[in-house]
Amino acid sequence: MTVWLLGDQLGPGVAPLDTADHVLLIEAHAFADRRRYHPQKLTLVFSAMRHFRDELRDRGYDVTYLRAETFGDGLDRYFETNPGDHLVGLRSPSHGADDRRRRLVEARGGTLTLVENDLFLTTREEFDAWADETGSGDDGSRTFRQEHWYRHVRRETGILMDGSDPVGGEWNYDDQNRETPPAEWTPPDVPRFEPDDITREVQTFVADRYDDHWGDPEGFVWPVTRTEALQALEHFVSVRLPEFGAYQDAMLDDEWALCHSLLSAALNLGLIRPREVVDAAVDTYESGSAPLNSVEGFVRQIVGWREFMRHVYRRSMPDLADANQLDQTEPLPPAYWTGETDMRCLSKAVEHVHDRGYAHHIERLMVLSNFALLYGVDPAELNEWFHLGFVDAYHWVTTPNVVGMGSFGTDVLSSKPYASSANYIDKMSDHCAACPYAKSKTTGENACPFNALYWDFLKRNEETLRGTGRMGLMYSHVDRKDDEEWAAIRDRAAELRARAEDGDL
Ligand code: SF4
Repeated sequence: MTVWLLGDQLGPGVAPLDTADHVLLIEAHAFADRRRYHPQKLTLVFSAMRHFRDELRDRGYDVTYLRAETFGDGLDRYFETNPGDHLVGLRSPSHGADDRRRRLVEARGGTLTLVENDLFLTTREEFDAWADETGSGDDGSRTFRQEHWYRHVRRETGILMDGSDPVGGEWNYDDQNRETPPAEWTPPDVPRFEPDDITREVQTFVADRYDDHWGDPEGFVWPVTRTEALQALEHFVSVRLPEFGAYQDAMLDDEWALCHSLLSAALNLGLIRPREVVDAAVDTYESGSAPLNSVEGFVRQIVGWREFMRHVYRRSMPDLADANQLDQTEPLPPAYWTGETDMRCLSKAVEHVHDRGYAHHIERLMVLSNFALLYGVDPAELNEWFHLGFVDAYHWVTTPNVVGMGSFGTDVLSSKPYASSANYIDKMSDHCAACPYAKSKTTGENACPFNALYWDFLKRNEETLRGTGRMGLMYSHVDRKDDEEWAAIRDRAAELRARAEDGDL
């Protein structure tokens, strides 16, 4: 039996490999001519595929590894030597990918059977049964509730459970997870996986072929094998996890990683599985080496958000990709590509993405997405930027996070937008102290752009948002502003948009 695995299915233990003797891997290149992915993302995927090929060969598998322009070209070559072959693969979480693969194989006289993708912790059937049972996502209650799903999975799996109760008595410890590090704090080391010969060869190929892509090709630190991914996991649970929780929402001017796990790229490639990273974190808590608030916060990222996003994406596509309930139509400001802006928080977040293909979740949500939301950026354009810029980005990941949560293009994921003024960024970071903009000013010279755009956003979208749950407090502040204030806010917002367009923010 031949197993055809994709570049994000590099799990040495995936179920179809149990009965397979032959594995097909196609390293397709032309898709990245059309979509200008970050060079480190391309290096990561191609290098991980080549390492996976060698690992499988070492384990005795016969591996056909084809470098081709497209999957179609690769399959042409494969079926020339293997006419009529039957392939088995894992379902892809990306919308439409399974149908496209099946059509490509059948057009060449082969057949393709796709089985459950066991690189995820929960199955489609489990989520669908939960959604049906709870009425989540029905017309009557459009919003899928992450918190409900998270508790459901904890109960079903026993993860961090004490009988029928959550360990420690609470389902989450967010109130302990909103600290910013003191000035004398030293962040833990970032595990660095030096490029070997294979990775260096891929880096050269990527630099030659995709030489006009945005993003720094150097500074590559990402694990490309399962062994390295397990080392990264061990480093996280032993070194980074203890302080992860307390500082998980913090942002520091000179610090791109803080205590974040940095495991998302390896997880999304399939090098490690969600269950094993969760178990490693829980073991660390049980051995007394990490506090519960850290471990629970991490478990929620994996069991709650990651699995949840994948399922909501599946249930909400294809509409989700183009969802734009606020009719936001502004183009993305050039600063997202150049990083050239005096806005310290934005320039730092863009710099992190440019340099590493990575920014942590609060930079993603409360700086990069928040600014685009307030500015009025078309959610699909922002989604494309995230998709191209991040090493861990896949359509199933970015679309619910960026279009749903970040842009509030739809209310299937949250009942209110993640919109905030400079207040939040000032509270959770040290950026404002180093920024020429004045965090407390809304209008006038050097007023922080987040502030006028925030009020302008609430006013522009009043009809949709005022009646939305949990927006009452924000609109009570809106109601206190007089006509003169609104005129100044509108003028300031218009000026900021004109300056942003000119790359002068
Ligand atoms: S003052 Fe405004 S633009 Fe500057 S860092 Fe703070 S929130 Fe960002």
